[in-house]
Amino acid sequence: MAVHLTLKKIPVNGALKDESGLPFACVVQPFAKAEDAPLIKPSAVRARDVGRCRHCFAYVNKYCSFQTTGWGCCLCGTYNEYRCLSNRRYARPPLRQAVPELRRALVEVQCDLDDEADSALQAEGGGAMEVAVAPVTLALVDAGGGEEWLELVRGALAAALEALPPTALFGLVTFGTQVELWDVRGPVPAVRCVALTPDGAAPTAVDLGDALPLSALLAPVGATKERIAAALDLLEPAQPGQPLGSRGFGSAMQAVLRYISAAGGMLPLEAHGGDRSTPASSPAHPAAPAADGLPSIAASLCYAGARVLAFLAGAPDNGRGAVLRAPPRPLPSASSGPPLFDPTFPDVNPYAFVPLAAASGRGAAAGADERAGEGSQWEVDLGARAFYEGAAAAAAALGVRVDVFAACAGPCGLEAVEPLASGSGGALLHYPHLEQAALPQDVYRRLSASAALGGLLRVRLSPELRVARAYGPLAADERYEDLAHVAACDAHTCFAFDLEFTSTVGCGDKADVPPFLQMAFQYSVVVPAGSVAGAIEASTGAEGEVRSSANGNSAGGNSGAGVAGGRVFQRRLRILTVPLTVARSVRDLYTSTDADAVLVMLAHKTARAAQEVGAREAGALLQDWLVLFAAAYNRSLRRDDDAGPTAASQVDVACEGAEALQPLARLAYALLCSPLLGEAPGAPAGGDAAVAARHLWAALPPGELRRAVYPALASYSDPDTQACALHSLSRAALTTAGAPVWLLDAFSQLVVYYAPTAPAGLPFPPPPSSALRRAINAIRASRRITPALHMLRGGHHDAEPFSRWLLEEPDTEAPAGTLGAGGFVAFLAQVQGEAYDYMREQGWC
Ligand SMILES: [Zn+2]
Repeated sequence: MAVHLTLKKIPVNGALKDESGLPFACVVQPFAKAEDAPLIKPSAVRARDVGRCRHCFAYVNKYCSFQTTGWGCCLCGTYNEYRCLSNRRYARPPLRQAVPELRRALVEVQCDLDDEADSALQAEGGGAMEVAVAPVTLALVDAGGGEEWLELVRGALAAALEALPPTALFGLVTFGTQVELWDVRGPVPAVRCVALTPDGAAPTAVDLGDALPLSALLAPVGATKERIAAALDLLEPAQPGQPLGSRGFGSAMQAVLRYISAAGGMLPLEAHGGDRSTPASSPAHPAAPAADGLPSIAASLCYAGARVLAFLAGAPDNGRGAVLRAPPRPLPSASSGPPLFDPTFPDVNPYAFVPLAAASGRGAAAGADERAGEGSQWEVDLGARAFYEGAAAAAAALGVRVDVFAACAGPCGLEAVEPLASGSGGALLHYPHLEQAALPQDVYRRLSASAALGGLLRVRLSPELRVARAYGPLAADERYEDLAHVAACDAHTCFAFDLEFTSTVGCGDKADVPPFLQMAFQYSVVVPAGSVAGAIEASTGAEGEVRSSANGNSAGGNSGAGVAGGRVFQRRLRILTVPLTVARSVRDLYTSTDADAVLVMLAHKTARAAQEVGAREAGALLQDWLVLFAAAYNRSLRRDDDAGPTAASQVDVACEGAEALQPLARLAYALLCSPLLGEAPGAPAGGDAAVAARHLWAALPPGELRRAVYPALASYSDPDTQACALHSLSRAALTTAGAPVWLLDAFSQLVVYYAPTAPAGLPFPPPPSSALRRAINAIRASRRITPALHMLRGGHHDAEPFSRWLLEEPDTEAPAGTLGAGGFVAFLAQVQGEAYDYMREQGWC
């Protein structure tokens, strides 16, 4: 778990915060690898043993005060007596010193699985700490792509089979106007086809489970890898010129969710703890192993849910969730046809159409125009977004994560499809160039990274502070304040919380009692049986209290856990307690600012504003923020020498006197030019690229977001010698440095650029052993998504993939009045002028 505060020293009260002009927030990566907090052995302490404050429910921690008859809560000051059963372990000083939860600020403990009302399991195992499961992965493949697409998907699925453990269960489903279920049990793969029904209560003519039980579709990876590969070879590419209306993605997704729900014996959309559904009337207890000793599919689905890898080759245009639709039909009379309401999840209104001109993204419009040229009048239906929001809610309730991989040069309708990934804890990746797509690498990375499932994240603060708003891929709890549900997240996933004071007094004068912040993250994880690999690396075993693996402690009869490569499901709790230091002057705040964390907050606020009031207005709000901040900063300067600026040119917008603040103007400017407020720079596929960038940015941690917003530009005097590690993104920087070779890192893209003036003797492309190549490989290996790599030689190739990232240059093609289009220098001058006017209005100069 990692916490970054925008102000590493917090303001003493709201007035000082306002005076600084900076956001006051914390940015959290709950599942970040934490080498200093290994899992504590359940025999030492379980989650239920950790004492809690009777008033604020904070967990006891090393910062609490321990007295003769009780302990004082460091967050709220409440005195908790040792007489209370749960506090007895802290009563005696010698024992207290050995209590693991009091030794570190960050602790991780295991939860009993029966804590969550699974009485049958409790009866069998008595306080089970883990259950054997077989991770379930379903590939849902668009059958409407060409040969190149199919090759890419074959590579991706081969990578998936490599990434999954041998005991994992894998199933292949393809879709078009029907759903095809691939049965690989026999020597020759067999296919069951089920027609999709665009209208009516169910997405398919018969339930998929009736056509082929899920247990027959799912095959263990280790034993059937060759047969699954043989099935992939049988997939046939779609013929060019395929008619419209042949991509029933939404219907297929809905059918698959029902398929999983029925097989797990689960009730979709039932209220539950967040990570697993309530077992319904399944014939046997889900934790009971199947006859062959392996974990049953029902148990695996019930505990660990499932993962759906959806491969999309174009915009959905058939049935439910179609983004492109045929023109509206006359409304049927009230008495005709089956009811359109589907109880599984709220369906879209099939009669909601948006005129083509109103559809977002020029790519979508262009694609639809092409289709219109084929003689039909198809329209873009943005109502489809509501369908995918509903599908994501149903998936999250079932514990199903949906990763969407869209590889297509044309429009994919990702604006509508995106909620399916973000709402279910999955990822959305977009590949506009099939020949460059690193799809197999990305699938491998997604599947091999450990993930926290069904997370509950709670931020507790001392009484003078509270959370005002939450940002990132989470959902607020309806009942409990400050509690958020995280469907799934990985080590990189980042959330942000705006903080505010509960009263005007703020922290007051209590110099000896600092305020505290406590994050608690409860989540589920699937880890190799009998090992600690998984969420946390094995520790050095310091003090003998660490180590995972509650062997012999698992639920009775789950011998599957002992199978080689077997996986177990555990529930864990991470607690981090942070003492906050208080700043009492605005200068103190300025020196303790974390510009990267401020950027995360600015990006979240800008994205939310763009959604609520439109991109243009959101851009104006961002610029206004920078103006007010610049005025506040210059006001703080005035106090020292008591003379304010006498002209706009004297306003210091670059914050020359405060190093921590210096990146802010440039980052705010880069946000104005970013896909949060429109298209990604030079995006070839219009709206889809911007949607994919926004999806990615919504969960990026501070350092990574900075790279994506303001790419890093390094120069090389030859492929083996770096000249300078960081340049500003302007032509002036290129000219001044005069280096022949450049490497630009825009997080999801890497560009190698040889200047036209580069000596002819420099090898192009850079040799595999060169320092430049090694730098590229290191970057590609460290990212959650594989950056696309462009290698360009000025004078031979079009330099646009490089020059479009020179963000500080004026954008001559932008419409008049576009914010930031005049370039960075003009932008700074404008901010300077507005800040000066504001300071004069306020009487600050
Ligand atoms: Zn308390």
